[in-house]
Amino acid sequence: MAQRPYIVGNWKMHGTRAMLSEARAIDRAAERLLKAEVALAPPFTLIHATRKEASLIGVGAQDCHPAEGGAHTGDISAPMLKDAGAGFVIVGHSERRADHGETDAVVKAKADAALAASLGVIVCVGETEEQRDAGKAEEVVGNQLKGSLPEAAGMIEKVTVAYEPVWAIGTGRTPTVEDVGAMHRSIREQLNAIYGDDGAEIRILYGGSVKPSNAAELLAADEVGGALVGGASLTAEQFLGIIVAAA
Ligand code: PEP
Repeated sequence: MAQRPYIVGNWKMHGTRAMLSEARAIDRAAERLLKAEVALAPPFTLIHATRKEASLIGVGAQDCHPAEGGAHTGDISAPMLKDAGAGFVIVGHSERRADHGETDAVVKAKADAALAASLGVIVCVGETEEQRDAGKAEEVVGNQLKGSLPEAAGMIEKVTVAYEPVWAIGTGRTPTVEDVGAMHRSIREQLNAIYGDDGAEIRILYGGSVKPSNAAELLAADEVGGALVGGASLTAEQFLGIIVAAA
């Protein structure tokens, strides 16, 4: 890994203001933060407060609507996220693809909206267990990339890809280091095909049951530029353990 690893915590639908103490504790571990680029994606309701509490880490969101504004009850647009203090947004997480029926086209529209609002964007892709067992993991992920990645002319440094095998999310199971490396190499080839030379600038994160005890080996796999962490980002102790292992 040439650059500093990028370690992003996804709090999902967890967290009330009581949890801001965890964000503060992560932010205060400034010395460790020098070795990695660290960010948290709390729920919408905590973005502004997290930004105020934590000055060193990045703060982002877990989703956005493709439109700038309008009659979309309950949705949040990319410019609103920016206004609340977010610097990036995660799009296409498998839980959103499954729970909200988000297609690649919807994910791409969201990613385009994020860049239009000058937010960084983390585009998530990953195969199900059935797709892996059928030998189709690389094909599925390749199609998701082709369909979900944004137009990024002049903004490629704002784009990150997260490879998250659906069957590894929240299950305690992970692919082998060899499988992670093979998939990340395949993603790199796709990025080069889609974006030409610029594709080399995009960081590819691994996500799925990353914890302090397995972070070092997963992050050492080929083309892994960091981690997207769910459950283990909910406490400063665990998340800092991953950051230390990664750097
Ligand atoms: C995630 O949902 O992005 C994730 C990787 O979750 P976990 O780390 O809990 O598997």
